[in-house]
Amino acid sequence: TQLNLNNLDQLGPGVAVPEYDPRTLRTGIVHFGVGGFHRSHEAMYLNRVLNSGGQAEWAICGVGVLPGDARMRDILAAQDHLYTLVTKSPAGETETCVIGAIHEFLFAPDDPNRVIEKLADPATRIVSLTVTEGGYSLNNATGEFDATGADIAHDLQVGAVPRTVFGLMTEGLRRRRERGIPPFTVVSCDNIQGNGHVTQGVLSAFARLKDANLGDWIAHEVAFPNSMVDRITPMTTDRDRQELAAQSGIVDGWPVIGESFTQWVLEDRFTLGRPPLETVGVQLVADVEPYELMKLRLLNAAHQAMGYLGLLAGHTYVHEVCRRPVFVDFLLGYMGREGVPTLKPVPGIDLNVYQHELIERFASPAIQDTLARLIFDGSERIPKFLLPVVRDQLARDGEISHAALVVASWAAYLEAVNAGGPVPPLQDQRGPTLLEAVRRETAQPGAFLQLKEVFGELGDNPRFKAAYLAAREGLRRLGPVGAVEALIETSR
Ligand code: NAD
Repeated sequence: TQLNLNNLDQLGPGVAVPEYDPRTLRTGIVHFGVGGFHRSHEAMYLNRVLNSGGQAEWAICGVGVLPGDARMRDILAAQDHLYTLVTKSPAGETETCVIGAIHEFLFAPDDPNRVIEKLADPATRIVSLTVTEGGYSLNNATGEFDATGADIAHDLQVGAVPRTVFGLMTEGLRRRRERGIPPFTVVSCDNIQGNGHVTQGVLSAFARLKDANLGDWIAHEVAFPNSMVDRITPMTTDRDRQELAAQSGIVDGWPVIGESFTQWVLEDRFTLGRPPLETVGVQLVADVEPYELMKLRLLNAAHQAMGYLGLLAGHTYVHEVCRRPVFVDFLLGYMGREGVPTLKPVPGIDLNVYQHELIERFASPAIQDTLARLIFDGSERIPKFLLPVVRDQLARDGEISHAALVVASWAAYLEAVNAGGPVPPLQDQRGPTLLEAVRRETAQPGAFLQLKEVFGELGDNPRFKAAYLAAREGLRRLGPVGAVEALIETSR
């Protein structure tokens, strides 16, 4: 059955369909970056809100600004903006749900003014984003807004018709201010620490370059609540489309597949109101930071902890590693003994349950996540996810042996790359520098830690250096699995 409004009642009994009439919806949220994640996460939560009734003014108007988004425009238009979300649990249960919350989609290059008027419309009360980490035009070294990209530079010209997210948002806000309409609230759902603060910095910096007054108005009047988001959502494949057709009889040009777990922790700062998200499983809090630290230092750091060791032990998939007791013990050891002690109290979360739930999620074969994906850009990820734990643990005289073994396994992987060993290729912006530093270790053990742009002052810490050298030696002598076993033995 081709997915569209007329065919909704012909879908099988196992498929959840909207309990509202999508034709009656009105835009309350404009969203930039309608990719897999927005459709498995925010739009799914809004679908729940709409299902609860009486909330028709909270539908989403999606916006795409990149040429590649024309495909989403066409596919959604052909199926009345409906799409299917399939979620898979670690136990192998599957849920299939048709979502109608994105009732409209605008492809900005078709008509930029229409997007700007949508943003200026008083009915638009929230603007949200999932435009990837790279969509914020940040300078990696300074963390500041970088105005030198071609599209940003274009949008900054006087009288330019904007092409970028920040150009369009700024013009929408300018018109609101001119017309006496209060600003919308901006919600970033990208995986960036302090995503609300970062978005505020970028948008107001961009706007100031256009008009200093407007930039100040945005900095002072617009709310940018921070959020922590979580639901593993791999890219949709042809196999997913075929499986959906075979199993549910639904012909959908672009379904979304994700894990069953989902989490959204959001700061409750909305100046023009918000949908009743607390009734559909969203946690509204005053401060997202403790949740964010929990996710970065447990989930994201655990990904680093399994990535290199898993590859060195000959594995390909996350679930293979997370089904081996020795690695499960190691990951729980890292989280419980090193990660957790550095966290702030996380209201409403049982950290012990959270850690075991992570292992269960990682061990799910339905998700097919690869170790190679986890180690992409390690020199960006290790310093953001793992090294802050080491610093905090050193300061409080806590354990660091698990984290030191992870850093040593990164070096061992780089060594294997240098030797042309059977490991996936290195994909890292600092690749040559990393390989060279590891090469120097033959003559000068610990030289890797001297990479200041990665380790900062940590490389000079005697305790960390000693733990790292011991872990390197352990890996050489015992191999990845032996080194992990030895560590578990001594930390019992
Ligand atoms: P995706 O590739 O399916 O979609 C990305 C969307 O962002 C596309 O619509 C694309 O056009 C848009 N985009 C990219 N660069 C842009 C730019 N410079 N300006 C404007 N739009 C731009 O990816 P996804 O899986 O939806 O993930 C998007 C983001 O969501 C991630 O980068 C991450 O920050 C966050 N996230 C994803 C997951 C996940 O498991 N996929 C989990 C948590 C958070």
